[in-house]
Amino acid sequence: MCEKNSTAEYKSSAADDKPHPGDLVQLAAAMMATGVQTGVLKYKNERFNTFKSTDPVMKQAIQRAMNIMAQMRKSLVSNVPPAGTPTVNKCKACPINKQCSFSSGK
Ligand code: SF4
Repeated sequence: MCEKNSTAEYKSSAADDKPHPGDLVQLAAAMMATGVQTGVLKYKNERFNTFKSTDPVMKQAIQRAMNIMAQMRKSLVSNVPPAGTPTVNKCKACPINKQCSFSSGK
């Protein structure tokens, strides 16, 4: 969601004192897609953090998002999916686990 000059991610989960690393990457991707320099992560338990694209933690998340995008582009060209890290629990919750040939949940 884009609000004024920032983008915001509202998470249905709670967070402790630090945001989840995957959520930072998701926020970084949203900031890159929208072109805004500030992002806000809000968690179910009212915890929230505001980040600027120049913050060290966000620079790291932006780099991770760029690496993931490069991997996705390579996969699209080669038609070979990235290795990923499927687990029984991840695949069990995945909406396409019945169709996926890589599923660990079968
Ligand atoms: S079912 Fe397939 S797409 Fe879903 S998490 Fe597992 S490996 Fe990934």
